[in-house]
Amino acid sequence: MSAPRVGVVALQGGVREHIELLASLGASPVPLRRPEELVGPDGLRVDAVVLPGGESSTIDRLLKLFGLGEPLRDAVAAAQPTHGTSAGLNQLAAAIEDPAPGQESFGVLDVTVRRNAFGRQVDSAETCVETVWGPAQVAFIRAPEVVSYGPSVTPVARLHDRLVAVTQGAITGIAFHPELTGETLFHRRLLESIRVSA
Ligand code: GLN
Repeated sequence: MSAPRVGVVALQGGVREHIELLASLGASPVPLRRPEELVGPDGLRVDAVVLPGGESSTIDRLLKLFGLGEPLRDAVAAAQPTHGTSAGLNQLAAAIEDPAPGQESFGVLDVTVRRNAFGRQVDSAETCVETVWGPAQVAFIRAPEVVSYGPSVTPVARLHDRLVAVTQGAITGIAFHPELTGETLFHRRLLESIRVSA
């Protein structure tokens, strides 16, 4: 099998670190800005999608401006393996408790999130999170938390009793940044889920 093509939404936020981490794991990262970039030269869609962190209300605005929001949402809803980090988790959520004016999310992950949920001591901090898949060394930067979730969602990690990582089918949403610490756990799982679905 050729290197899996992973589309990384590249409109705003921490794009480069995801691209470098994916490349180091043998994937072929594809920056996504325009809808046509969801489709590769062979006419196939990218094999997986990463929504990086940043500022979710800005990313939402740019997704609409570039016409990428709707096709990307459709790709994710069609069980494309997907990974959302922090603002990316917000973008995937069914509901944002405290959206910015006009801010919308994809509604493909059955959770309600609260933006900027963590107080000062974990506002921006590097820490080890125990996940159901093992320990992960990650960074929290004005991270959201999952305040409620539906029956199809599986909790993956908590920090200080707050839910910070979940999965639902092919989608994983995490409140923190593994790409800033070089933690490979989540990206390895994303690439494995492509192999399983292929
Ligand atoms: N606070 C940001 C938001 O609301 C998320 C921060 C991040 O992506 N690290 O989108």
